Amino acid sequence: MTKQKEFDHRRLGKSMWYFVYPPFKLPEVKGFEDGLLETCLGKIEELLPRCHELKEQRDMRVEQIKRLNKPGSLEETWIKTWAATEYSEYYLIQKWLVYWTKLWRTVANKPLPKKVRKSLNWVDEQDIERAKQSPIEPYYEGRLRRVGNKLMGLCPFHEERTPSFCIYPEGGGYHCFGCGAHGSSIDFLIKTKGFSFPEAVRTLL
Ligand SMILES: [Zn+2]
Repeated sequence: MTKQKEFDHRRLGKSMWYFVYPPFKLPEVKGFEDGLLETCLGKIEELLPRCHELKEQRDMRVEQIKRLNKPGSLEETWIKTWAATEYSEYYLIQKWLVYWTKLWRTVANKPLPKKVRKSLNWVDEQDIERAKQSPIEPYYEGRLRRVGNKLMGLCPFHEERTPSFCIYPEGGGYHCFGCGAHGSSIDFLIKTKGFSFPEAVRTLL
């Protein structure tokens, strides 16, 4: 086991790791352009190995889950929970990668180095926006019932017998009133299918 280290997105609290989202808004960079490109590149390169490590672990766990294939067994539940936690860091890293890439773009009039883009498995921001507008319904397994402007069904993220999960059509995302699960079409694919961010985006396009 390698010793786990702190990142901008993952800090050690009293004895627990906690995740940190990138700033919602890009900071004002006027006057601070010097060194920013280097910082962006450095941060991206710092995140990539962790990103790839998580992807490998995730793929391995998914394989294990498939091999176990004993619905309802304790191990399967445990691995799913474990894997979901790992995915959320993976997903968070994608958010930080977007953040640093956007910041790079505010200062640089050139794309990121080819090697970095390749390693990022990059998807265009416009593609991401388009992917978010795609409907979730085709990827939902189960029955959905229309209630007002939304579709309701059983939540894929927690055990329940009466529906509290709703999908908002036309790119409105999903929300569960039972467990608080919430997100976009991209989030839905990542969390239910175990896709990587670029995989999810590309699937939705
Ligand atoms: Zn739920």
